[in-house]
Amino acid sequence: MTETVLQTQGLTKYYGSTLAVDHLDLKIPRGSICGFVGRNGAGKTTAIKLMLGLLRPTAGSSRLLGCDSAALTPAIRQRIGYVTEGHRLFRWMSINELQKFQRAFFPKQWDDKLFADMIEYFNLPRKRKIKHLSNGERAQVSLALTLAPNPELLIMDDPTLGLDAAIRRQFLEGMIELIMRQGRTVLFSSHILGDVERVSDRIVVIDKGVLRANCSLEEFRAAVKKVILSFADSPPAEVDIDGMLHCRRSENDLELILVGPADEQIAEWAKKNRAQKYQIVKMNLEDQFIEFTAPANHRRLFQWEDK
Ligand code: ATP
Repeated sequence: MTETVLQTQGLTKYYGSTLAVDHLDLKIPRGSICGFVGRNGAGKTTAIKLMLGLLRPTAGSSRLLGCDSAALTPAIRQRIGYVTEGHRLFRWMSINELQKFQRAFFPKQWDDKLFADMIEYFNLPRKRKIKHLSNGERAQVSLALTLAPNPELLIMDDPTLGLDAAIRRQFLEGMIELIMRQGRTVLFSSHILGDVERVSDRIVVIDKGVLRANCSLEEFRAAVKKVILSFADSPPAEVDIDGMLHCRRSENDLELILVGPADEQIAEWAKKNRAQKYQIVKMNLEDQFIEFTAPANHRRLFQWEDK
């Protein structure tokens, strides 16, 4: 049986009257590379902080590597790597000084060679102080510091925020380097769905604090579909197809966002309802995510067209 390394049960967090995380039930199996996605304010950072025991839940609980998040022992913490949003590092230290400082917390497991390799790979100036590094360089130092102790579980909160495309790719390749060491598990939040698509094998979608998906990337890619149907006259008034998320109408067309139905079921429905033609539109992960998390009747923020 696959081991669960990260689990939450009914995990809930209110900030005053704001519900940030709403009864989150999550299980992440060992060895997954899990993209944690949600729109701004969806509750990702809050959920991550709850998982790491950095925030106290209003209700529910979570476990990392079998240990309750509220009581993570130093021994368990040593097996977990955490990259914070914004990469907070001591600004007055040089990379070399930070290396020594961080190594002292992991006397048995620190891998000096891996750290050196990553610093060299990223071409970072070892003697330069953190405050004199660019954002991208700071992110790279942060990743090297987090990977050097060989964490079994790596949790990263929007680690590539603000990085350019080339550095993001380097960063993710650095992450893959870790994953190649068998049995490692990674949960990382990101707004860049292309990155999630490239490196993840699992996706967790959270929307207004509520878990909307936790499945393999493959399942998600196969499940969320856009179908455009054209009719000779006006489209049927009632659309009774399984898994419908959104239905947009124009004079002769229907645009449906569906979750789950097989292509054959769509074909059958189109035939039964006398569609002249229909098309299942190929979407990339970003399009699927946007449709999947779009509010029911979302309006355009800006209306450029002439009315
Ligand atoms: P983003 O992608 O924009 O970083 P997020 O998914 O990480 O967002 P959170 O930062 O977890 O979302 O915020 C979830 C909700 O909780 C939001 O509505 C936010 O305004 C609220 N929130 C977060 N931190 C606090 C706080 N310290 N006090 C009050 N409300 C908070």
